[in-house]
Amino acid sequence: MPMILCPACSHQVSDQATSCPNCGHPLTPYATGSQPSSLSAQNSRTTSAAAIISLVCGLLSWCVLPVIGAVAAVIAGHIARAEIRRAPADSIEGDGMAIAGLILGWAHLILVVLIVAFVILLMFPHNVHF
Ligand SMILES: [Zn+2]
Repeated sequence: MPMILCPACSHQVSDQATSCPNCGHPLTPYATGSQPSSLSAQNSRTTSAAAIISLVCGLLSWCVLPVIGAVAAVIAGHIARAEIRRAPADSIEGDGMAIAGLILGWAHLILVVLIVAFVILLMFPHNVHF
């Protein structure tokens, strides 16, 4: 059984004990934390910053930041998804946001490429021979 040191008297106490048998000091962190691992996982559960950046850039690319916003959204989205994959299961949120940012970014880039190709065809119709 793992032993811990009593913070009050440095007596060795079982980590299952609710108070120190030597001095009676309450060992609350161990007594109340019946599931300390899930508790700390919940506390450290964060949303991926890259996922938020991806979603924001993906939205911005459609209104104020064409192309640049989309490229940033795609890059940030890939970073976010790699970050979420590497992290322990469920410790980072934002996979949905990263996917939304990726879709917005890629859709914008594909649209831009199509528009540019169309404009080039209109501008130089005599240079294109099929
Ligand atoms: Zn003690």
